[in-house]
Amino acid sequence: MAHSLDSATRQALLDRVRFYRDLGLTEFYRRPVDPELLARINAEQDQSKPEPAPQLFHLEEPTIPPRKSSFPVAPAIADAVPAAERAAAMQLIREELGECTRCALHKGRNKLVFGDGSPAARLMFVGEGPGADEDAQGLPFVGKAGQLLNNMIAAMGLKREEVYIANVVKCRPPNNRVPEPEEGATCSPFLFRQIDVVRPEVLVALGATAATWLLGTRQPLAGLRGRVHAVRGTKLIVTYHPAYLLRDPRQKKEAWADLQIAMKELGLKLPTKG
Ligand code: URA
Repeated sequence: MAHSLDSATRQALLDRVRFYRDLGLTEFYRRPVDPELLARINAEQDQSKPEPAPQLFHLEEPTIPPRKSSFPVAPAIADAVPAAERAAAMQLIREELGECTRCALHKGRNKLVFGDGSPAARLMFVGEGPGADEDAQGLPFVGKAGQLLNNMIAAMGLKREEVYIANVVKCRPPNNRVPEPEEGATCSPFLFRQIDVVRPEVLVALGATAATWLLGTRQPLAGLRGRVHAVRGTKLIVTYHPAYLLRDPRQKKEAWADLQIAMKELGLKLPTKG
């Protein structure tokens, strides 16, 4: 049993749980997990916005319940909005959201995090949901993971103001947990409408939750990376969530390879040094 593990083994187990979780492999746990270990993971997750780990919070269950097999049908793709009218179109979506109470996430919200950047961007990033910093400021990716995302954008030769950034859910999930299916189902139609307004040439899904909701199917992240998908008439690249890259910087190389695919699709050249 995990209770009797020594600290090195426990650390290795903890790392492995994270590693598999980050790859989207979370369903191989068929037995209870050491409650202390879970508590430690949850405590650490309180400190920084983590990569998605839905099943980690349900590991006490002896068997994983069958997942909901279907995602809600995404709204039909809206007509293209002329670039000059995109800011106004985005504002209309924001107004329709209003002081949203459509799902339970609003109860713990400080600020709703709608999106940030240029509504006429060629490149759009989609994350999972606001963390503590984002909830406080009302802007996506402004914490530590956001700083890394800013660096990734700069490495692509772009400025943050030139891209558009949004999340699957617009209110912070308690303890930064992964959005529940009904929360994603309630909020993602607004994300789809934002995508339709921006109509980016390339979308980048940051992490498994974004990839899952954009593609409407749950698959391990590892199998989704390294190729170009199609979503809402737009090319989609899947890469690691910056919060995961902060925990495992060795994967930054892999993420950079993904971003280079996006750059190629956008016809961007690698920025020269100096
Ligand atoms: N992580 C996300 O997925 N989105 C944010 O806005 C911040 C951290």
